[in-house]
Amino acid sequence: NRRKTTSTEEFVTQIVAGNIPFLSRAITLVESTNPKHQQQANEILEACLPYANKSVRIGITGVPGVGKSTFIEAFGKHLTSLGKKVAVLAVDPSSSVNKGSILGDKTRMEELVTDENAFIRPSPSGTSLGGVAQKTRESIILCEAAGFDTIIIETVGVGQSETAVHSMTDFFLLLKLAGAGDELQGIKRGIIEMADAIVINKADSGNEKNAKLAKVEFNRALHLYPAKESDWQPKVLLASALHHQGIDAIYVMIEEYMNLVKKSGYFQQKRNEQNNYWLLETINQQLKSNFYNNPKIKELLKQEIAKLENGKTTPFTAAKRLLENN
Ligand code: GDP
Repeated sequence: NRRKTTSTEEFVTQIVAGNIPFLSRAITLVESTNPKHQQQANEILEACLPYANKSVRIGITGVPGVGKSTFIEAFGKHLTSLGKKVAVLAVDPSSSVNKGSILGDKTRMEELVTDENAFIRPSPSGTSLGGVAQKTRESIILCEAAGFDTIIIETVGVGQSETAVHSMTDFFLLLKLAGAGDELQGIKRGIIEMADAIVINKADSGNEKNAKLAKVEFNRALHLYPAKESDWQPKVLLASALHHQGIDAIYVMIEEYMNLVKKSGYFQQKRNEQNNYWLLETINQQLKSNFYNNPKIKELLKQEIAKLENGKTTPFTAAKRLLENN
């Protein structure tokens, strides 16, 4: 089996040379639950780190149907036409159960898939958001080492996954649709607060007027929030992903943002904060998984649950006993 004999050095050399099949295989190692694979994945990641970190990481969210795939394809094609190398990753904790999940179906980005300067990878599967997000974060490092200078992380606009994506990206973009004047309804406050830009998609086919009204409303809403630590005033833009309209202006805006935060030092500050956050996240996850996978704990847990059911202990005493026996 060739897979088993590939050395870490070989992986790193090939990834840094931009070898996509090796990049894919390394991501597969990152995503594996096999301890041997994880061990090698960690070695590869560590060796790739000096080559990473030189990209712009863009998070994109929006409810299903808002046009994320269409937008990412149009945006991605625009970026590759500018000579950029674009990697598209996803965070979707539902992907293991729901096969129709985002990026599960590559045909949704037909043009980008065949672009040699683009790399598209569906969401890792997993039941915990923390686990899925960590794998994606590690994949970012591998993609950067392989020379991708623009990393797009897609997530579906339901649940907690936006926060996870926000914590691994430099710029956070919320895709919205113009409706009948109740634009702000149903959006979680936290998501608006995270957004560096709101793009109102499908501003075409007679929907232009509504889109413009929505833009005014969102702009007003954004001004109600306290100034961002980045000193960036979030923007509202109109786009038609389907007709490739407004796409170039979005990238111009992101470049403007990057110039601002690189100059002010906020860019590095945020990345440092993100690294610290992920360090603690990783420790938390590792501690938990070591604990629950410990055979002694597994057995003791069963016993304590039985005692609990028989009214012989309390949850707190049982927890204390388990933790002390770790
Ligand atoms: P996702 O679920 O957020 O990934 O959304 P998709 O990209 O799959 O788009 C959902 C539907 O909206 C598809 O039928 C697209 O063709 C359509 N769509 C996407 N962007 C636009 C747009 O800018 N204008 C119009 N009119 N339709 C769009």
